[in-house]
Amino acid sequence: RSFHDFSVSEEIRKALKGLEYDIPTEVQERVIPFALEKNDLFVKAQTGSGKTAAYAIPICELIEWLENKPQALILTPTRELAVQVKEDFTNIGRFKRVKAAAIYGRHPFSMEKTELKQKTHIVVGTPGRVMDHIKRGTLILDRIKFLVIDEADRMLDMGFAEQVEFILRELPGDRVTMMFSATMPEEIKRISSSYMKDTMYIDV
Ligand code: AMP
Repeated sequence: RSFHDFSVSEEIRKALKGLEYDIPTEVQERVIPFALEKNDLFVKAQTGSGKTAAYAIPICELIEWLENKPQALILTPTRELAVQVKEDFTNIGRFKRVKAAAIYGRHPFSMEKTELKQKTHIVVGTPGRVMDHIKRGTLILDRIKFLVIDEADRMLDMGFAEQVEFILRELPGDRVTMMFSATMPEEIKRISSSYMKDTMYIDV
């Protein structure tokens, strides 16, 4: 199997080749076709499985370059993961010139505000900081078509449930939601049944 089995553009293929991603991992093989079809997905997958590219590849593919407002919001539990995920989007979207920004706690708010005023396709952030930007009007959500909640179980363990639900309520209803989690506690089931539609479950 190879990435040629998916309907992704030459720009994305070229970037994957440069990253030496020759063979899709299992989670990528199972997630990418459904994500390209814009299904809501709940994916039970561990870190190190290649889950970031499993959502970053289809999102980069479906991003419209000409749209200046953010089209995808990725929530991560930690700053470190936010920065890593932003880099993965930049690398995978390199030849499509995809612009990603990372926003997270204890990072200068004014710098993020300036960055968000410029063309930004993808915003990756921790829930508290994302909520701050929404409240202050510095993160515009009306063009968001994709939401990813990465490491959802860890996010709840860290006490971010309230912030995540605040963000979910602020987002346009007409969007694709993908949730990635290593485990599936009751709280996650509740959130996914309240805020996701016709969810497909993928257990890797
Ligand atoms: P993740 O689970 O997203 O943190 O990814 C784990 C590691 O696997 C990262 O260092 C990725 O760069 C790498 N990776 C992801 N997909 C592939 C692939 N298809 N082939 C080779 N390496 C990959």
